[in-house]
Amino acid sequence: MSDITQQRTLSTQIPGPRSAELQQRKLATVSDGVGTGLPVYVERAEGGILRDVDGNQLIDLASGIAVTTVGNRNPRVMEAVRRQVEDFTHTCFMVTPYEEYLQVCEALAELTPGDHAKKSALFNSGAEAVENAVKIARHATGRTAVVAFEHGYHGRTNLTMALTAKNMPYKDGFGPFAPEVYRAPMAYPYRWPTGPKQCADEAFEAFTSTVHAQVGEHNTAAVIIEPIQGEGGFIVPPEGWLRRVSEWCTEHGILLIADEVQSGFCRTGDWFACEHEGVVPDLMTTAKGIAGGMPLAAVTGRAELMDAVHGGGLGGTYGGNPVACAAALASIESMREDDLCARAKEIEAILTARLQTLADKTGVIGDIRGRGAMVAAELVSDLDLKTPAAELTAAVNKACHARGVVTLTCGTYGNVFRFLPPLTISDELLGEAMDVLDEAFAEALG
Ligand SMILES: *Cc1c(COP(=O)(O)O)cnc(C)c1O
Repeated sequence: MSDITQQRTLSTQIPGPRSAELQQRKLATVSDGVGTGLPVYVERAEGGILRDVDGNQLIDLASGIAVTTVGNRNPRVMEAVRRQVEDFTHTCFMVTPYEEYLQVCEALAELTPGDHAKKSALFNSGAEAVENAVKIARHATGRTAVVAFEHGYHGRTNLTMALTAKNMPYKDGFGPFAPEVYRAPMAYPYRWPTGPKQCADEAFEAFTSTVHAQVGEHNTAAVIIEPIQGEGGFIVPPEGWLRRVSEWCTEHGILLIADEVQSGFCRTGDWFACEHEGVVPDLMTTAKGIAGGMPLAAVTGRAELMDAVHGGGLGGTYGGNPVACAAALASIESMREDDLCARAKEIEAILTARLQTLADKTGVIGDIRGRGAMVAAELVSDLDLKTPAAELTAAVNKACHARGVVTLTCGTYGNVFRFLPPLTISDELLGEAMDVLDEAFAEALG
């Protein structure tokens, strides 16, 4: 069935002539507002390999931004999608429902943390899930304010732009933004002014005093947080901080929304990143890795909160599309059967060991962090001053691309190199990608 070998092969420059031609058409027909990080046009993909229209085979360390966690052309996903397309593609769950939607909600109730009664609602994208989580939180609490964190990323719709911290490219010129959104300092150990040891205590204090002084606990419907921040730089808060935030929210009747759109579904070595801290959020948003590449998102939460909304208050034409639901059920089965949480931990061990060696050799990696197959290196031009090395990061990224490895950067300062391989990638391919990274650093550092 498979005709893609799990091997990197380069037969032209990257991008090749056929990709370059398509990119010209892209420039003529697609809005410049939609960027392409690496303009090689993909023809087919499988496991950890993307094959482009010039016949090059690239190693995939991005998974389409943490989406194809179970690998492209995952056999279970392909079969489930095929079967569902044969049956029907759409009825709209709000018009005439179908069982697959229920099965996804049942799976979410079982997999997400906490043994309380849970319910879900399904949507199309992460941003849509976040919007709806906020709608539910406001309705359930009768309060309006929402607190998000520095370096947070929650999407590109109007409300989620307001929740997102970074101006360029996400917010610049797109205001005015949705009101009643407030921002608290993030527990960012590497850049905490008094050092990582003080970070948990001081960041917790800064968070509570910000909410108390600038918002008022009794006005606050929800606090939204990515348990490991994604676009903001794979920032892992110090041990215990998230648990204290969670407990403090409960004390004040504030709902905790865990945005697990990027960190969920085995990515960090647990089903969800907040499990690592023993945190049980009131509401959780998921998307990206949930459905093997099909567009699906969910809000899952305490049944009484999810039911606080009047009938018809939540929904959308395509939300919980049956093909996407079938793909989600097959993806979840693959994660379970193939124990992809365990695989994520193996990937973490391989990546962090290689990055540590690279750090020792180059002296430009200030911090290596992340969990599971969500690992990053923060690049600095001075280890003591921690000066962000954004240009170097971009140069290394480009050098990886030229060698046929699909890499991504992130971070508020554009100086974080992030790794999000499919969990089905082989050790050999991962090792080869890291060899390429070594070469890319050598080239960029001259
Ligand atoms: C990607 C992302 C979103 C937005 O998801 P879309 O599907 O792109 O709308 C929201 N939150 C987090 C944490 C994300 O990583």
